[in-house]
Amino acid sequence: MRKKSIKTQITCLLTLLMATMAILLLTFMLIISNTIATQTVRHQLIETLRSNITLVEATDKKPVIEDGFSYYHNGVTTLIYSQNESLLAGQIPVSFKAEAPFENGVIRTVDSEDNSYLVLDFWLASDWEHGIWLRGLVEAPNNEALTHNLLIIALIALPLFILLAALGSYHIARRAFRPLDHITATAEAINDAKDLSGRIGLPPGEDEFSRLAADFDHMFERLERSFEAEKQFTADASHELRTPISIIKGACEYAEKYDETPEDHAETISMIHRQADKMSVLISQLLSMTRMEQGIEHTAMDHLGLGDFVHTFCNEQPWDSKRFSLITTSNPMIIANPELLGRLIRNLVENAFKYSKEDTMVILEVCSTEEEILLSVKDQGFGIAPEDQEKIWKRFYQVDTSRSSDEGNGLGLSMVEQIAKLHNGYMTLHSIPGVGSTFTLHLPHAK
Ligand code: ADP
Repeated sequence: MRKKSIKTQITCLLTLLMATMAILLLTFMLIISNTIATQTVRHQLIETLRSNITLVEATDKKPVIEDGFSYYHNGVTTLIYSQNESLLAGQIPVSFKAEAPFENGVIRTVDSEDNSYLVLDFWLASDWEHGIWLRGLVEAPNNEALTHNLLIIALIALPLFILLAALGSYHIARRAFRPLDHITATAEAINDAKDLSGRIGLPPGEDEFSRLAADFDHMFERLERSFEAEKQFTADASHELRTPISIIKGACEYAEKYDETPEDHAETISMIHRQADKMSVLISQLLSMTRMEQGIEHTAMDHLGLGDFVHTFCNEQPWDSKRFSLITTSNPMIIANPELLGRLIRNLVENAFKYSKEDTMVILEVCSTEEEILLSVKDQGFGIAPEDQEKIWKRFYQVDTSRSSDEGNGLGLSMVEQIAKLHNGYMTLHSIPGVGSTFTLHLPHAK
């Protein structure tokens, strides 16, 4: 059987719940009203008889009845009987036709012809052996009639109530599920159009649907980023690998035709090796950038002192100590991934060596201001023309390929910028052609 929609299920459940509660409430009301009616009549019987007993005195002869004695009060009839149970005063109600033996101080229900009576007797002694009986009679409340009336009301009101409950429940379920309809429609639209840029965009809130929508939007965002990064990777890889592959193919064809000596072969193999290395670097850099964009690159962040980190890191690098100097005036705390930060520093310092003359210095400096932490790499190299200063951050952009050595592929600075962003920071560049360049990483203080 096809499962009913959740809205229908909720409507049915709510209606059933309300109907059950209405029936329970009705039963409860019935029991309570019957109990209250019985208790009230019993109370009236006791109170009337108690008040009458103070106004009558049993003697050897006729009982003395004082003023205020009432034979009929609040539906209660009071009768006075002699010791041998003959009626002395009061009038037995016409409808009371039952035989009820006397019993002191006990309320009993006595069935008469058409109805029932509650009967209570009190023995009023005049001396050790003699006395009179005081009897109270009251019609027992007709619980059956009350039940009957309530049932008739219930039979008329209950279907109406169930109908209203069903309508109300459906309305509530529809209102509550409206955001879900919106979420489903957006997901369907994204699926149909194969366009991941759609968002649900519910206003932020603490309710389950707002959180679900926010999670979905977050997921769509990640999916979109992931798809874009993958697309970019495929486009970049297929474009950038074309050149080294055609160089390798050309070298192979040339070698097949013209290489004769072992030296010729060794030279060709070495060239193929270089191109293969270049391809391998390019692929691993592209993969790493794609993973960073997709958010799946290992980016566990740690608190670390930047001054100490830079000291340890630079000591491990094979950089010429005559050309490289490190200045750290403080050890500010940052939150960073050591591996990525190391990659950023290596790129900047190696570029600085690459794009400056042999006899110039490269200086790495760490300092901190009140607002931010700065790591700068300064060289006295060729510098970058103002019109290129924006462009160098783009993938594969190289200013002057004749200056760039064979190792370059134009991905380094793009990766540097990506790593800075991952650390909630940014890069700036100050460069004067012919004088030198300073690349600066700006990071926030660790909270
Ligand atoms: P690659 O170094 O592999 O060419 P990068 O992305 O690291 O790629 O750099 C992009 C371009 O920016 C380089 O080709 C180079 O022209 C220029 N560049 C980078 N760093 C410097 C520097 N310190 N001094 C001068 N030019 C630089």
